[in-house]
Amino acid sequence: MTSRGFEHTKANTKQEFVTNNEDITVDELITESPVQCISEKGKGRYLVATRDLAAGEIVMSSIPYTTTVSKSFVSKVCHNCFKEDVKKLPHQCQYCKEVFFCSENCKKQATMHEGAECDSLRRIKMQNNGTKFSSDELSDIRTVICTLARRYSDPASNYHDIDKLVCNRPTDKISAKYLTAMAKFVVKIMDEEVLSGITDEDIIDLICKIRCNAFGLWNKQQKCFGTALSPPSSFFNHSCMPNCARSVTNSNHVQVRTIHPVKSGQELCISYVDPKEPIADRKNVLLNAYYFDCTCRRCIDTTGECDRFMQTFYCTKQACNGLLVPTIQNNVITERACKICSRKGDAKDNSWLLSEDFTIP
Ligand SMILES: [Zn+2]
Ligand SMILES: [Zn+2]
Ligand SMILES: [Zn+2]
Ligand SMILES: [Zn+2]
Repeated sequence: MTSRGFEHTKANTKQEFVTNNEDITVDELITESPVQCISEKGKGRYLVATRDLAAGEIVMSSIPYTTTVSKSFVSKVCHNCFKEDVKKLPHQCQYCKEVFFCSENCKKQATMHEGAECDSLRRIKMQNNGTKFSSDELSDIRTVICTLARRYSDPASNYHDIDKLVCNRPTDKISAKYLTAMAKFVVKIMDEEVLSGITDEDIIDLICKIRCNAFGLWNKQQKCFGTALSPPSSFFNHSCMPNCARSVTNSNHVQVRTIHPVKSGQELCISYVDPKEPIADRKNVLLNAYYFDCTCRRCIDTTGECDRFMQTFYCTKQACNGLLVPTIQNNVITERACKICSRKGDAKDNSWLLSEDFTIP
């Protein structure tokens, strides 16, 4: 966990960066990637490209701080490598019985599960008799437990990057009541020592941060099997007309890639919602889950031009909200594929993406 170093590889004569570390801070990561973080009064924090970026370039790559498999997938998705099986996985943690592994090797590798995480997960079932938490609330509680357990078991990890995440606390009484109940439940099932320095209020903040910053992990059937909390990817602001897309690789890296060329100095954005959804639905989700009224270029466009532009990036699989990311070799686009479901886009001429006069509406 202490390996630190970036591999710079020449790809298409432009530098793509790939990172293999876990304990690098967001600030360090940003320094190493072709992005710059700018803080501006009124606009907040945002990322811009520090050089012209080609389509399909990786602009950020990191390992999530926490990944949790949701309750309904626990016995079918490996807690360590996310490999999924149609039948029950063969290796269950005998102590908590709450996580499964695809192989003896994965079980051995999941050292972070031993101790605080395993102990706390084991107590969820024991203590949850009287409390009626919804499955979403229980999933949030699992993510809180894994995050706080890692803070304790892996002091070299960058918990302060979690501290820095945006936290939108709902102000209504009902939400406050549920959040308080969830925090009290976490305090009840986690050891005092593990929670040292963490107050009930900190736990409520963490739940709100998870709701605002964590994102779903999707399988090939387009089912959400878990969540990941990865502070670096939370630095990307939202746009309904994003120039980047986020994905999780087989080696559990969260990657953000450009979907089309981006000029140096331009802001880099991803979409927090399904970009295929109509404006009213997008705005609604953004307001309710992320607490802002989207006024992005596409949301204020009355000509339909932005909608038409975005259509050229939609994944062709109907239920998938991924975007097509090109692969470029020797200045030719060899394919455009969705990094969420792996579906390839229609084999058509994509050279417009590379042409000198490629323009964004
Ligand atoms: Zn595995
Ligand atoms: Zn366990
Ligand atoms: Zn918008
Ligand atoms: Zn897709």
